[in-house]
Amino acid sequence: MSDPVIQIRGLSVAYGNQLAVRDVSVDIPARQITAIIGPSGCGKTTLLRSMSRLIELVEGVRVWGQVLFHGQNIYDPRVDVTEIRKRIGLLAQRPFTLPMSIYENVAYGPHLHGLRKRKALDAIVEKELRAAGLWDEVKDRLHAPASALSVGQQQRLCLARGLAVEPEVLLCDEVTSALDPISGQRIEARLLELKTDYTIVLVTHVLRQARRLADYVIFMYMGELIEHGPANQVFHDPQEAKTRAYLKGEFY
Ligand code: ADP
Ligand code: MG
Repeated sequence: MSDPVIQIRGLSVAYGNQLAVRDVSVDIPARQITAIIGPSGCGKTTLLRSMSRLIELVEGVRVWGQVLFHGQNIYDPRVDVTEIRKRIGLLAQRPFTLPMSIYENVAYGPHLHGLRKRKALDAIVEKELRAAGLWDEVKDRLHAPASALSVGQQQRLCLARGLAVEPEVLLCDEVTSALDPISGQRIEARLLELKTDYTIVLVTHVLRQARRLADYVIFMYMGELIEHGPANQVFHDPQEAKTRAYLKGEFY
């Protein structure tokens, strides 16, 4: 395994009195795709959002344990949360485009972080729209509203917007589930290309998607990490009875 970018140590998360993630410890390797799989309600989203402190946006949530990002605990009170969320970006299930143009959606982050030169912004917009596989479809209407795009295009626009602030880690939560199959394939193809530069953690309840994309797999069940390992091993030679049952479709 390459050096871990994120090391989760004894992480538990509760909503009120209900534990959603129980004592999870796992490493996320650099520039690989790690898929978190498991039945609905098993804690996949909670675990994912804990990796960028986005979980704290939920009222009444409590977090125990550590998430080390390059060795530093992101829950340390001295840590700058804005910086963490910039370096560890999230792509959500449904695209949330900003109510502005296609161009402005991508330029928004870099502009917010102080970049003002038009030429430099133009270059970033083109680069990230290309990386998201959207450039050819929008290059002639960059100043049209983002809302005019199809849902699949909007999801790729959100990917471009996320990439524009130069994150190191991309957290992806069921990012193709609201999309038609062709749009879903386009996002999957982008993720496979992006893993040469980014560390990707992907939540999916679609096993076929995990088989297509994952280098490493985390199998969660009722808040617990049941099994973790290289995708080949987890899919073809699972060590735990619960993993075998899940892969056979005995519960979902
Ligand atoms: P998954 O993504 O695997 O479907 P989640 O992480 O969303 O699972 O949810 C894990 C558990 O936490 C579930 O029992 C769910 O009902 C509960 N849960 C999730 N979000 C909240 C919330 N905002 N408030 C209270 N309970 C929640
Ligand atoms: Mg979820």
